[in-house]
Amino acid sequence: MEGFAGILGHERAIGILRRSIVAGRLHHATLIVGPVGVGKRRVADALSRALNCVGESAAQGAPCEACTHCLRIAEGIHPDVRVVVPDTSKARPTIPIAVIRELLREVNYRPYEARCRVIIVDEADALTEEAANALLKTLEEPTGETLFALVTARPQRLLATIRSRCQLVRLAPLPRALVQRHLVEQAGVPLERAEVCAAFSEGSIGKALMLSQEGVLDARREIIEAVAALREADALDVFALASKQARVGNQELQANLESLKTFYRDVALASAGANDDRAINVDLRPLIAQAASELTLEAAIRHIEQIDAVQSGLRAYVDAHLLLEDLFFSLASGRSPRSTL
Ligand SMILES: [Zn+2]
Repeated sequence: MEGFAGILGHERAIGILRRSIVAGRLHHATLIVGPVGVGKRRVADALSRALNCVGESAAQGAPCEACTHCLRIAEGIHPDVRVVVPDTSKARPTIPIAVIRELLREVNYRPYEARCRVIIVDEADALTEEAANALLKTLEEPTGETLFALVTARPQRLLATIRSRCQLVRLAPLPRALVQRHLVEQAGVPLERAEVCAAFSEGSIGKALMLSQEGVLDARREIIEAVAALREADALDVFALASKQARVGNQELQANLESLKTFYRDVALASAGANDDRAINVDLRPLIAQAASELTLEAAIRHIEQIDAVQSGLRAYVDAHLLLEDLFFSLASGRSPRSTL
C-alpha cells in the first residue's frame, strides 16, 4: 500500500494537506518537521505525487500510484519533481548554493508536463547560509507553478526568514502501540522485542526498525542487569565490573551509561508511582520494580545525575577506571568505596 494510506500515522497532518490540495490552496512552500525516522520524507514524496496525479484518486488529493506521473515520480525520473539532499561525502554534509542556483534557474520556466513542479529539499537544515538566502528570494516571490517542500528534523537550524515563509506541517512522534504493531505485522519482529524497540523508538518508525535488528538492544540489557546485580555483590564484583567497562571503547561505554540512565529514569517513574506503561525498558520490569522498592525518587534522580557527571568526566578525559569505580559503588549501595572496604 503506497500513497498517503501507506504512511503510518499522521492522519491529521495528511488530512490537512489533502484538503488543501483538493481546494487548490496548498501553500507554495511547505515545511515538514518532525523527529528523525517518523515519515517526513514519505509525506513529502506522496505530496509530490498527489499534486501531479492524473488518476481518479487525485480528486481526493491522493496519488493513485498507477498513472504515468505517479510512477515516474516514484522512480525518480519525472522531469518536474526534484529532490535535493545534502552532500554526504563532506565531513559536515551541506546543501551548497550551486545546487540551489541550478534548481532556481528551472523555476523561471514553466514545468515540462506537470501541473505543479515540486522541489523537495530533504534535511533542509543542511542548506548553507548562502544557499538558504538564495532560496529565500524565490520563496518570497512565488511563481504559482512550483511548490517547495522543505523537510527537517531540526527546524530551529533553518533561517527564521525561511521558516516564516513556509506553512508548517508538524509530524508528531507516533504512538508506541502503533510502532509496536507495525514492527510485528509488517517487519516480522517478535512481539517481545517489538515492545522494547517501540518503547525506545521515541515515536520514530525508522529508529524502531534500526533497534529491532538482532543484538542492538542486548548491550543495554547486559549492563543494566550487571549493575542491578551489584546490589547483592561485594566490593570485588564492583571493581571487576568497573575494570570491564573501563576497557570497552569510549562510544560503547557512553552508550552503556545512556542505557543506565534510561533504567534509573524508569526506576524514578516507578518510585513516583507513575503508570508502568511509561517505562521504556519494558523487558526489565521486574528489575525496575525491585530497584524502585529500594530507592526513593530522589535517590534514583541522584543516580541519573551521577551518571551524567561520569559522562562529562569521560569527555574531559578523566580516568575512566576511577570514575566507574566510584559510580558503581554508589549505584551498588549508595556508599563510597572507602566505607565498603
Ligand atoms: Zn497517479
